[in-house]
Parts: sequence; structure tokens; C-alpha cells
Amino acid sequence: MITLKEALTLPAEALKEIRDDLKKEIAAKKELGAYVEQLTNQPIGEYGEGIPIALKDNIQVKGWGVTSGSNILQGYVAPYNATVVDNMLRHGLAPFGRTNMDEFAMGSSTESSFYGKTLNPHNPKCVPGGSSGGSAAAVAAGIAIAALGSDTGGSIRQPAAFCGCVGLKPTYGKVSRYGLGAYSSSLDQIGPITQNVEDAAILYDIIAGHEPKDSTSAAMAHESVADKLNPDRKMTIAVIENYLNEASPEVREKMLEGIKALQSAGHTIVYRNFINSKYDIATYYVIATAEASANLSRYDGVRYGNRHNSDSLKEMFIQSRSLGFGEEVKRRILLGTFVLSSGYYDAYYIKAQRARHFIKAQYEAIFQEADLIFMPVTPTAAFEFGSKADPLEMYLSDIYTISLNLAGLPGISVPLGKNQEGLPIGGQLIGQAYGEQALLDGALSLERALGL
Ligand code: GLN
Repeated sequence: MITLKEALTLPAEALKEIRDDLKKEIAAKKELGAYVEQLTNQPIGEYGEGIPIALKDNIQVKGWGVTSGSNILQGYVAPYNATVVDNMLRHGLAPFGRTNMDEFAMGSSTESSFYGKTLNPHNPKCVPGGSSGGSAAAVAAGIAIAALGSDTGGSIRQPAAFCGCVGLKPTYGKVSRYGLGAYSSSLDQIGPITQNVEDAAILYDIIAGHEPKDSTSAAMAHESVADKLNPDRKMTIAVIENYLNEASPEVREKMLEGIKALQSAGHTIVYRNFINSKYDIATYYVIATAEASANLSRYDGVRYGNRHNSDSLKEMFIQSRSLGFGEEVKRRILLGTFVLSSGYYDAYYIKAQRARHFIKAQYEAIFQEADLIFMPVTPTAAFEFGSKADPLEMYLSDIYTISLNLAGLPGISVPLGKNQEGLPIGGQLIGQAYGEQALLDGALSLERALGL
């Protein structure tokens, strides 16, 4: 598959050929389940001219269906473009197909989608990760030049690691959430999933920037990073030693190779510790579910999608929500409603907000001494379908990705190699708020030093 950088140099006829080939390839790899529908069903005419980019099914394209992988949104057609889509169109990129995801971006395996599962291109018995599993599988299988995903607690970085792609979660507010199906508004962020670090920088430059329609969008001019990428800049990189030690042997082995590569590229490695990651999980699942319970209250069966007609409005509301949402989504709405209820608000929600400040302070302390942080993306390589039936076990697969969202910081997942079964393993670099330039410089240097 050609890279985004190469595609940007191609004339219109060559791009048309690439789009036609892609459609054939996608049809041939249908069993992978990376896209939620056959592209021929889509009214792509208006968008058909640019470089094709795959979009997660929670990013709106005017006139297209968009369902966040849920039954409750079947039949819903987006009335306007997400800001990222308008930005893409302005730069000669075009939306090309909706990719599969965990319902409402809640999950780590893409097993909870209304459309069924997506397979890991490296091993069909294994999950592609989630919730942006369709986007990562499409890039890894060579049926997308690049894709967009969203990351609330790891949903770009974790599937990128499981599929062997690069996944960038930008600083909170750098990429507008306007037109993104909301899960947890203070954590959600759109970002690129690509074949390499340079493409991630290029796509990030295209989608980033201030959006006046979005009050959470950072009010600053975007400074391009791709044209200034410098893999030769020497940095101090803090390795989180306790995370390294507690990861599985296969992840530790690849992380140690990553550390060696960073050293050989001239970076200085220092070792630091984080508090127990179990506090990150507890904090995240209180805040994320609280926000989700508020965000998802709009799917009431009256204004959105999938109506269950009944004479009584109340009946319609109950029917629509109980039939329209899947198990995991319902569990989280219940949990979120519980932690926000009077009597429990102080004990859970307020406490989680305090813990969130503490987690942020912990990052700030390390950034007093280091330019970047390096740690695993996941405790293991991709797991098998059905192996994490207990929701709490599934939640534990995010232990290294969620603190970043709580702190609002940018992070990138870079492939470090494969385990003995041929499954990819990723390493995560973390930067300071709005420090995407240093982050991508470090990621490029790691990618080059590993020479994969
Ligand atoms: N796996 C985490 C969750 O289920 C993160 C998901 C995400 O980043 N959207 O909430």
C-alpha cells in the first residue's frame, strides 16, 4: 500500500485507480470485517475525488450513515461534516468508508459492535484491539492508506499496537471533537492510525486546529509538525520502570529492544516509577461512565435513529434503549448514573476528579526532568476472541493507556516488533501538552533506530 506522503504527490487519475483497487481489495477481504458496509452502497460521489481515508463509524460525514457501531443509531444520517472531515476535504483527502468499532467506543477488542467482530490481520483468532479496531485492521491489512480513530482511554494506541500500525492520540483540544459521537467529552480525542510516523504527522497537521464551534477546542493557531520532523534531536526519555517490570515477558523483551534503539540513537534514558496503575483504572471508569451516562441520554428513541413505535412515549423510550443498546453500553450507563447520584457523588465522582489531578501532577513531575516518557502500550500482545468475557478483565487491558487521557497529554504507539507467534507489540511515547513536535521527533527516531 502506498503511504499518505506518496499519495499526496499523485495526480487525480492515479488516485482514481487507487480508489478502484481499494474497493476491490476491501471486497476481497470482507471476512476481516474492518469496514461496516460495502463501499458501493455509499453516496461517495460528492467526496469521491480525494485521497481515500477510512473513518471510524463515530465520525460524521454529511449525508452518510453514522452509528458508533450501535443498533440504536441504525438509519441515522449525519446532517453535517465533522470538523476533521472538512479539514481533510480542504487538503485533498476524502472520507472513504466507515470502519468497525466497539459500540459507542466502549471496549478494547471491537467485539461489542452491532456489525459483528473485526479480525486481527496477523491472526484471525485474535482481536484487533479496540475500540478503533476496524481502522487499525484496515491499515494493517493494506485496505486503507490511513485512517482516523478516536481515543478516550487508549482506543487509537491499543489497536494500533495489536495490529502493528502507528497510532497518535493528540493533546486534548488540539483536534476538534465537533462531529464526533461523544463517549466521554473530557477524554475523547480524534487522531490518525497510519503505516508510519511520518504519515501520522502529516494527517495530524491536516486535522488539527482551532474550531470556534467546539468550546473544548484549543484556541491557538496550529503549528505544522510534519515539515519540521527531526529524528536527530537528542532528548531525555523517562522509562516507567514499574510498568516495564510488570508487563508480560514478551512485551518487556520488545520494550528493552526499544530502549536500546533509543540509546543507540543518542537519547538519554532515565528510569522513573508511577503509582500503581489500578488507580488509573478506577479513576477512569468513574469519570468516563459518568460522562457517558449524560452523553448517551440523548438517544431516547424519539429524536435519534431506530424508533420503536408505541402509543406511549414512555414505552417508546424504554423499548428503544433496552433493545437499542448492547450489554456493555447499558452497564456503563448504569454505572455512570450511579456514581453521579446524590449520596454517591462525593464518594465516587468528586474523589475521581481529585485522583485525576494527582495523575496529572505525576506526569508534570516527570516532565520536569525528561522530554518524553516511554512505556508499554498494553500488558500483552493481541488476545483471542472471547478470552476476556469478564468486563473487569477487559478493563485491565487499558492499564497503560488511560492515564494519558486523564492528564490530557499526547501519546503515540509505535511498532516494536513481533512476538514468537507473529503478533505485533507496540511501545508508547508520551509528550507534554501541545508537545506533538517533540513527540513525533522521538517517535520517528525510534522507528528509524529499530529499522522495522
Ligand atoms: N477501552 C477503554 C474503554 O472501554 C477505552 C476506549 C476508548 O478509548 N474509546 O473505555
